[in-house]
Amino acid sequence: EEEYTVSITVVGASGDLAKKKIFPALFALYDEGSLPKHFTIFGYARSKMTDAELRNMVSKTLTCRLDKRENCGEKMDQFLKRCFYHSGQYNSEQNFADLDKKLKEHEGGKLSNRIFYLSIPPNIFIDVVKCASKSASSTNGWTRVIVEKPFGRDYESSAALTRGLKEYLVEDQIFRIDHYLGKELVENLSVLRFSNLVFEPLWSRQYIRNVQLIFSEEFGTEGRGGYFDNYGIIRDVMQNHLLQILALFAMETPASLDAEDIRNEKVKVIRSIKPLQLENVVIGQYKSHKKRGITYPAYTDDRTVPSDSLTPTFAAAALFIDNARWDGVPFLMKAGKALHTRRAEIRVQFRHVPGNLYKRSFGTDLDRATNELVIRVQPDEAIYLRINNKIPGLGMRLDHSDLNLHYAARYPKEIPDAYERLLLDAIEGERRLFIRSDELDSAWELFTPLLKELEEKKVAPELYPYGSRGPVGAHYLAAKYNVRWGDTNALE
Ligand code: NAP
Repeated sequence: EEEYTVSITVVGASGDLAKKKIFPALFALYDEGSLPKHFTIFGYARSKMTDAELRNMVSKTLTCRLDKRENCGEKMDQFLKRCFYHSGQYNSEQNFADLDKKLKEHEGGKLSNRIFYLSIPPNIFIDVVKCASKSASSTNGWTRVIVEKPFGRDYESSAALTRGLKEYLVEDQIFRIDHYLGKELVENLSVLRFSNLVFEPLWSRQYIRNVQLIFSEEFGTEGRGGYFDNYGIIRDVMQNHLLQILALFAMETPASLDAEDIRNEKVKVIRSIKPLQLENVVIGQYKSHKKRGITYPAYTDDRTVPSDSLTPTFAAAALFIDNARWDGVPFLMKAGKALHTRRAEIRVQFRHVPGNLYKRSFGTDLDRATNELVIRVQPDEAIYLRINNKIPGLGMRLDHSDLNLHYAARYPKEIPDAYERLLLDAIEGERRLFIRSDELDSAWELFTPLLKELEEKKVAPELYPYGSRGPVGAHYLAAKYNVRWGDTNALE
């Protein structure tokens, strides 16, 4: 018999993220029996709503897994009965004290554990943390706070935010989400590296020519650029998601799978990255483009964006890790909105085979004959390794082929959403996939000087057509380091 309770308060429950991600993830966990026996979910925001109205709002976004259609409606009803709503201000200790009373009623005297998920704009994080910790934290169990990016917009503002949080919380109570770390293939990176003999020995400058970390979206800001314009793609995607992936990819073997051991290695490798040079960075911004009779807007056509905005919607950068393993290996990052495709992937290009016996068979394009390992994080998850292979027949003709681990074929069960994994980890106190304060500091230390230089010098982004492959500058940057961006679809 479990004699403890977990209460999850979604602060900002009236908002978009709560509706789209948090409540559906909580339901999915409930549906598969992963939530503790005694749990209560509270929505908290200023909007006036009854419990019934919250349930009605939430019910519209819950979905059933393809393989779990049976009894799903019933499960939803049971779940919704355990969701409640409390309306209050974000800076009122009294309102949080009222919430505390309600939480206590539901906890019925059991050991109480509490999570506050801050799904609100960052300017009110500290208000909420202050009120929640003073008036609504657990008195006999743990209290944890989940926060979402943006964690500041540079080193100073991020450090100030952390200082503010730490006035009321200790490090162990802070769960900073980078939802990329909750993605299946990102979690699998360490398994791939450290539990397969065939990969780890190759994982260094000796065999790897370059590593590419690519993120692209095929849509722009579409009228929601207000938030984005203050950040830009470097802060929105590179400083967090892509850098996190890089850290996991390049870190040394941790002492154990313990969260602190892993996070120690991540901090170490991030701190070993050389300062970013402006000449190793290309920024871009999408411009209007007409295709098949449809006119796609420019970034600055977004009414929530100033018409003279220099905010990058695209960036490419070459990073170098100053340690024995990676000396001289370019890590190329590329992130952009309004590109021709949606994908997030890691591409590892290996060196040439020395004295390749078969080099004649490849003609002049030896580059295309090198092995490449691709980890496709989304969509259509896959891991594949490009190898050279003889085309069956009497002649000696070679071909590039893929050893392909295609998730949809190999693992037909639906992959859980990143938010599910992360919420479950927060409930269980597993911190491996959350960003520690010193990790965040090191990420900002790396990117802040570059961001300041771009802004002080008012560097104009190179314009690229909506729906294209991004600015040509990104190709020159790669070419400077003898790299060709990998591409799944076609020749670039
Ligand atoms: P949102 O809808 O703009 O805000 C959530 C709730 O916060 C609103 O329903 C509103 O509730 C309250 N709120 C909004 N603006 C406020 C203000 N200026 N002052 C006080 N309260 C305000 O945000 P969201 O899209 O749900 O995202 C929540 C947080 O996660 C944000 O910090 C966002 O940056 C971050 N995030 C979002 C996504 C996403 O996919 N949407 C992804 C990553 C990170 P009431 O008016 O009812 O109080």
